[in-house]
Amino acid sequence: MSADLTELYQQVILDHNRRPRNRGKLPTANRVAHGDNPTCGDQCSVYLRMDGDRIAEISFDGSGCAISQASASLMTTQIKGKTAPEVQTLYKNFHDIVTTGNAPEEISDLGAFAGVHAFPARIKCATLGWHAAIEAMKSDPMPTTTTESHVD
Ligand code: ZN
Repeated sequence: MSADLTELYQQVILDHNRRPRNRGKLPTANRVAHGDNPTCGDQCSVYLRMDGDRIAEISFDGSGCAISQASASLMTTQIKGKTAPEVQTLYKNFHDIVTTGNAPEEISDLGAFAGVHAFPARIKCATLGWHAAIEAMKSDPMPTTTTESHVD
């Protein structure tokens, strides 16, 4: 029996799509990366404020299908406060979920995307925000808008 698209849009996805978390530019960001998924028309920018090796603040901005925007929204709630290796581990778990459809019970909200595995073309939608976040973590720090350069 094949999965139905309505199964894909589970409650968590619908909720994040309706009320995206951490959406909009982050004025204090010191890292940013942009991702796009031309096959679906999804865009996603991820803004981070890194404090040492941890994500102190995170936001995303973008447009596109429900899967891409809900996934980016959920991603921001999952990786805030995490270090790069922790984010990589979470991403690996998430990638396994969306490619195999097997969601371990302890990974509650991310498991909502298990239905994506039945729609291989949508996997890129689900991982877009994660890719942008990982790129942002690797990117060079950028000058913040809250500058304190009063050095003569
Ligand atoms: Zn999409």
